[in-house]
Amino acid sequence: MLSELSEPYEYSEVSMRGGILSRKQCRRVLSYPDSRILALLDAAYRVRHHYRGATAHIQVLANAKSGYCSEDCHYCSQSCLSSAEIEKYPLVSQESLLQEAKHAKETGAKRFCMALSGHKPTAGEIGKLCGIIREIKAEIRISLCCSLGHVDAEQARQLRAAGLDRVNHNLNTSERFYEKICTTHTFQDRLDTIQRCREAGLEVCSGGIVGQGESDDDIIDMLLLLRELQPESLPINFLIPIKGTPLGEHDTGLTPYRCLKVLCLARFLNPEADLRVAGGREYHLRSLQPLALYPANSIFVSGYLTTGGQPAEEAIQMIADLGFTLEIEGVGASNTISTASR
Ligand code: SF4
Repeated sequence: MLSELSEPYEYSEVSMRGGILSRKQCRRVLSYPDSRILALLDAAYRVRHHYRGATAHIQVLANAKSGYCSEDCHYCSQSCLSSAEIEKYPLVSQESLLQEAKHAKETGAKRFCMALSGHKPTAGEIGKLCGIIREIKAEIRISLCCSLGHVDAEQARQLRAAGLDRVNHNLNTSERFYEKICTTHTFQDRLDTIQRCREAGLEVCSGGIVGQGESDDDIIDMLLLLRELQPESLPINFLIPIKGTPLGEHDTGLTPYRCLKVLCLARFLNPEADLRVAGGREYHLRSLQPLALYPANSIFVSGYLTTGGQPAEEAIQMIADLGFTLEIEGVGASNTISTASR
């Protein structure tokens, strides 16, 4: 039981009062003793439960266009610097994405995300994507998100008009550390894209990747900036060093406890966000994955862009075992279904 005199209790109090943890407190969360991780998780869960209840949701990600990217994001297997052996293909067909979206809905996903590699989608790709979005929306009730690289104001407006709900565009790390992981575009470019999407009426999904060699202060700065940007969802990825990428041999320094502490800090600083444990969940958290759902309330299932992941059925069972309710789009008054009976 969380003691009202404990440090973690104080963090949850600050967070739930709408305050911001001091930098010293943020650093303390990231270096909190492993042996007391349960107190930290309990405090983060107090905040998560207050704002997001005891529900969790799953999302399915489709790599709608893979490889051939002009950008040099060091973590990415699709970048111009990567020699990783991945499948490369142009934007897949409308029919194929419709089937994937239907499958995602059937597995219990709240949201279906389509990711396109590249610096910026072409006019032709935006046109095709708008047709795909319209068709999916006409056939099934599921929230749609796209990860597209940089979009201009007109493209953002077209996507919104077609029915797109949300755009993913991660900050990835702090502004200070950004040039260490990418040189082909700037941190400001990313902020500008997020701003344009907001102005077009799109919801924003934006988060980061930890384990790239950044400092604790870089993680804190990124999470504080995300607090200002107020994304509707905030994914935290844990770097999987992919052979053939510049970070392929990188020692991430990540342990399951370290990952949990980052998620707790993300929750304290962004109390209301849909906090998602994204890429690297299975790889870095291993047997401690269920604990991540105390600070976070959302997970990806069935894999990431070029790496595999936990099958949906297993993830749904994990959510049920934790006693949480699976939240899905447009079912029932509360948009939730009980996982206990699944
Ligand atoms: S993260 Fe996106 S923009 Fe960066 S290299 Fe990969 S596909 Fe290209």
